[in-house]
Amino acid sequence: MDIAASVPKSELHLHLDGSLDPEFIAARAADRGIELPVEAVNLREYLHDMKSKRAHIGSSVSSSSNWSNFDFCNQFLQTKDELSEATFSLCKVLIDDNVVLAEIRFCPALHTFENLEANDAVDAVVSGFREAEQTLNMRGGVIVCALRSYPVEHTIEMAELAAAWLGKGVVGFDIAGDEGAFPLDIHESGIKEALRRNVPMTLHAGEWPVDTVNNIALAVDSGVDRIGHGATLCQDVKLMELVAAKGITVECCLTSNVGWKFPSYASHPIRNMFEAGVKVCINSDNLLLSGTFDREAYSSGEVRRLVEDVGFTWEQARQVLLNGVKASFSPGIDEDWIFQYEQRLDKALS
Ligand SMILES: [Zn+2]
Repeated sequence: MDIAASVPKSELHLHLDGSLDPEFIAARAADRGIELPVEAVNLREYLHDMKSKRAHIGSSVSSSSNWSNFDFCNQFLQTKDELSEATFSLCKVLIDDNVVLAEIRFCPALHTFENLEANDAVDAVVSGFREAEQTLNMRGGVIVCALRSYPVEHTIEMAELAAAWLGKGVVGFDIAGDEGAFPLDIHESGIKEALRRNVPMTLHAGEWPVDTVNNIALAVDSGVDRIGHGATLCQDVKLMELVAAKGITVECCLTSNVGWKFPSYASHPIRNMFEAGVKVCINSDNLLLSGTFDREAYSSGEVRRLVEDVGFTWEQARQVLLNGVKASFSPGIDEDWIFQYEQRLDKALS
């Protein structure tokens, strides 16, 4: 086994609906009597083909080229069984790739199109994660997302839901979705609600390449612990220094950004951030929907890309991996756990 595969890893930024296994989709489609456009084995290629076709319709790299793929996946996540099974099987895939800590995020409101309430959706995802904790020794928890394209009342509702489940399987709160069309300031009262209820918070900010530095600044001002993507942070050196000084962790998602937002791994700003002293970690974002057909996002692949393509040394990669576990929102990740993780990490690297 190569080093990238054997090192113990974390995934702090991973969307449930974008990370479904094609076999899971095929089984659920059969149960629901839905005919898939292609066989399971070709599903990934089909979805990425759709994504790239839509991207070319827009005038530049389309910000919305992937959304209907998420809708496609979410039709198979509308019952408690579907949500629990999807969560557990995602954990199984992660464990098989030596991911020992995962924080899986999802927006409960996207799973209420049939009979579920948002609260039922959280219950189902938490129970799938609990099963993975008990049978696979997975660590981490669930992050409740709000969608930035929805009104602020939705964000407040999701923040309240995250707070109600805090300490019972939910570990944090996030705002996700189309950053190009919906700046973060629309959702300020939702952010305040999460803060008021002491919910650990990460926010998608600086994912889109243009006009998103303000979103990072708002996230920093709000007092977030982590930022999702943060790729435009290097456009504002003062803000980057502030993020470093505050010890905020930036959840970088290399494969998710490359090709769509940056031409290559080497041009990804993770190096600028790392050299400026920002705590960066690496994540897959979506196992099924991120990247392209030829460039798949998966946990050990991200580590390999960081070293082989971005050019980090293994010593630097070690720091990035450690940043990931240290930034976990999970109360189970204490000093003892991190110490043992560090020993496993060093053994794999030696
Ligand atoms: Zn994301």
